[in-house]
Amino acid sequence: MRYKAVVLGAGPGGLVLARELARRGIDVSIYEKGNFENLGHDWSDAVELEALNACGIELPVLQKNRWYGPLVKDSPVSEGIYEKHAIPRLSIYSPGLWSMKEIRFKMIITDRRRLGKKLLEEALEAGADIYYRHEGKGLLYREDGQKNDGGIEVFGVVVHDLEKNCQKEIKADLVVESSGFNSVLRTGLPSYCGLSEPLKDSDFALVHREVRKLEPFNTEGDCLFPDHYRYGFYNGYQWAHIHNEQSIDVGAGVRYDPGNPDPRDLIEEFIAKYPGIKNEKIRGGRSLCVVGSPLPSFVCSGFLVIGDAASTSVPTTGCGTGSAMLNGLRFGEVIAMAAMEGRNDLQRLWAINKKFYLESDRGPSYAALATLRGMLQNLEHSELDFLFTKDLLDAATLEDMINGKFRAPNLKGKAKALGSGFTDMPVLIKLNRALNTAVRIYDHYQNYPEKWDSKTCYKWKNEADKLLAARG
Ligand SMILES: Cc1cc2nc3c(=O)[nH]c(=O)nc-3n(C[C@H](O)[C@H](O)[C@H](O)COP(=O)(O)OP(=O)(O)OC[C@H]3O[C@@H](n4cnc5c(N)ncnc54)[C@H](O)[C@@H]3O)c2cc1C
Repeated sequence: MRYKAVVLGAGPGGLVLARELARRGIDVSIYEKGNFENLGHDWSDAVELEALNACGIELPVLQKNRWYGPLVKDSPVSEGIYEKHAIPRLSIYSPGLWSMKEIRFKMIITDRRRLGKKLLEEALEAGADIYYRHEGKGLLYREDGQKNDGGIEVFGVVVHDLEKNCQKEIKADLVVESSGFNSVLRTGLPSYCGLSEPLKDSDFALVHREVRKLEPFNTEGDCLFPDHYRYGFYNGYQWAHIHNEQSIDVGAGVRYDPGNPDPRDLIEEFIAKYPGIKNEKIRGGRSLCVVGSPLPSFVCSGFLVIGDAASTSVPTTGCGTGSAMLNGLRFGEVIAMAAMEGRNDLQRLWAINKKFYLESDRGPSYAALATLRGMLQNLEHSELDFLFTKDLLDAATLEDMINGKFRAPNLKGKAKALGSGFTDMPVLIKLNRALNTAVRIYDHYQNYPEKWDSKTCYKWKNEADKLLAARG
């Protein structure tokens, strides 16, 4: 097939997409700023089992809180993608530790370097090419309002070869940006194409996580550190996930705000309480993590944005690996069909937006959860403790929120049931307002435009902007 796609950035979304396109006979080249050795992040991510399964990455079998299978690691440094210790249920604590609820956790802890290498291997096996040490600088595009009605037609990308120190222009039918939250390509487009708005500070959490050595313990017996999230802590979260008898993943993320403490200090504070967690760090890292609303559109003619560059992480946890992979898979189907028809125009690629916003619950849920997160982050620790304790934020709601699904609890019924025991009206009003705003946003995203036509789409976008502004 004489259809050429260029993927910028070898993140999980870009690699799955590249694999899918190459498997369907499309000519795919990946340009990656880094090199093979440092591909993927040097930490562990909790990734949705559903996403790994859908993308054909073999899942291990669960027995007695342990994973078994060929891709399970034997030790912290061995080959393998998955950590041994399973977390089918996770304890969720309120910020002041007043209340704990147990939820089903639909994720598995993966070594991101190993997962990255596996996805790369599959993309290359399918026929994709990769060029390391090539940094994307900008898009090649023509302003083409007449033909495509979206105003822009992308026809390639400018990359800088970091070894030879020279610039190259790579022409393509489709350019895919998968370069993470900095999204250098889309933010360089003219604003009238509707894709270029940069993410705001409030769309980020600052996250720090480390795998630390742990005093060996008996897996059959109790460990001192339950797998947990401390939710709403400093407008973010803190967690501990055991990996195996000898290592533990500890992390924290706070709203990206100079007034908040450094997440590393929150981790140190936690570790200081448990001498079983050693000072010895096995691996780890820190960076900004996307927790905002997904972009209202991911496409223009000849161009697609995916992964953190498209802000598609679960806004209530910052988990973006699984959704980047799933989008790689689903968007790949649309591109493959478009390629067979020899098309790359906005009308055809709009089916990608439709996949995310209309054919799955993820789009509307993430938009609503971003709103809910933003509004709940303005509550004090004591207010969140109160909502947990009175079960106004109950286990079912938290389970959905953490697993990326929006569902509003029946607040009226709950408040009624509390009767005279209920003392804090202002916090109930705040929660009610947050939920109502989130419901309106969810409903609006469920009415996402079926097709690209400028009048309907701009009208929908203006309405979405108004609702998002109402979050305050
Ligand atoms: C500390 C921390 C913990 C996290 N924990 C979790 C977790 O538990 N679970 C989870 O699901 N998610 C987690 N995340 C989020 C997750 O890492 C991201 O959502 C995910 O990696 C997004 O994938 P991506 O493909 O969009 O981008 P990335 O994984 O960021 O990959 C982008 C790639 O593009 C390359 N690149 C960047 N700029 C350019 C350029 N100009 N030209 C060429 N290449 C470029 C980069 O080198 C990189 O290889 C965490 C994030 C942080 C910071």
